[in-house]
Amino acid sequence: MICCIVYGIIQFMKRYKISDRKYFREYARNHSENRKRLQKKYRDELKNKIIEKLGGKCVKCGFSDSRALQIDHINGYGTKERATMGRRRYLLTVLTSEEKGKYQLLCANCNWIKRFENNENRRAKIRP
Ligand SMILES: [Zn+2]
Repeated sequence: MICCIVYGIIQFMKRYKISDRKYFREYARNHSENRKRLQKKYRDELKNKIIEKLGGKCVKCGFSDSRALQIDHINGYGTKERATMGRRRYLLTVLTSEEKGKYQLLCANCNWIKRFENNENRRAKIRP
């Protein structure tokens, strides 16, 4: 008798979990556009906070349009760090980093010129 009740509960829980997973999967599929929009909004807010924290303009030429400002690792290897962390964690790391002299803001032109001059323009290799 007790075995039957336990078996019934286990079956119910299994059924519930399966339907729960299906529900969330279906919900994510049906609301993917909304989710993407919210993720972009969150990323943009993070980027704006970082830009504000790092001075709001390119440290070399003073360009201040946030659409072309990029976070630069002063000592290089930013691409590798971003690739290993993932974009969101990377942005949070930059935002919360208290290390002085690790990150700076550069406009896209100045960043590419720096990459070229320091020979950082090769793709970062994560795996050996
Ligand atoms: Zn610049």
